[in-house]
Amino acid sequence: MDTTVTVEETQSVGPQTVAITMESPPGFTAKPGQFLRVTASIDDEEYARFYTISSPDVDDTIEITVGIDPSDAGPFSQYLADIDSGSTLSIAGPFGQHYYENSDRAVILAGGPGIGPAVGIGDAADAAGHEVAIVYVSETATPAHRTRLTALADAGNDITIFTTASDSQSGVVPPEFNDAVADNITGTPAEQTFVYGFEDFITAATDALEAAGSDTEAAKIENFG
Ligand SMILES: Cc1cc2nc3c(=O)[nH]c(=O)nc-3n(C[C@H](O)[C@H](O)[C@H](O)COP(=O)(O)OP(=O)(O)OC[C@H]3O[C@@H](n4cnc5c(N)ncnc54)[C@H](O)[C@@H]3O)c2cc1C
Repeated sequence: MDTTVTVEETQSVGPQTVAITMESPPGFTAKPGQFLRVTASIDDEEYARFYTISSPDVDDTIEITVGIDPSDAGPFSQYLADIDSGSTLSIAGPFGQHYYENSDRAVILAGGPGIGPAVGIGDAADAAGHEVAIVYVSETATPAHRTRLTALADAGNDITIFTTASDSQSGVVPPEFNDAVADNITGTPAEQTFVYGFEDFITAATDALEAAGSDTEAAKIENFG
């Protein structure tokens, strides 16, 4: 589907992280973990970027979660960070095969804005009565989507949060990351692993899955760039 939608709400969901809720076009279907191409004209130049759905469903509205790079924000994420309700956006999609398919257990490794699909899948799986484990490496000292992560933890799911904010000196992932991944991998056939984030995080997370003896070929991995 290639269409124009109205922004219904924008909400700060953490430092340099905004959730944008758009109207869902008639007949639009998508799964959490799939992504959209969003197009806009900024200073007379046409830009297109991809954003992963962060709502558990798209029945009435579609939510995406946009991270604004703490060290060097680019043009499109800054544009989305400043967008107002009532504005329109051109979207195409959904795209991607790395979405939630109702597995009994979802283990999601999320880096930076990868927290969007993590809470989308987490909420969908939890609502369906399935188990959720999220290992999230935040780029900011305060993690994004704390309200939804707390609700998932309160519902009995396993939520582990690290930060690589500059004062921690910990690199792409902290030293404890591999242990946290290993603790959450059960290896049961009902388990589906997911990895969402930028390239450096994908590499670190894939290494952690391998170290934990998890089949990385079976993991659903979306590289943000
Ligand atoms: C399949 C797919 C799904 C994506 N889903 C999301 C999503 O759900 N949410 C989201 O925020 N972005 C997502 N992205 C990234 C998004 O499309 C843009 O690349 C991002 O918003 C930066 O665009 P920009 O114009 O602001 O900066 P650009 O100038 O295009 O970005 C410059 C570079 O900065 C780096 N970068 C940007 N932001 C960050 C960050 N937060 N952490 C680390 N490095 C960063 C990237 O390496 C990028 O190539 C996704 C990308 C792909 C390919």
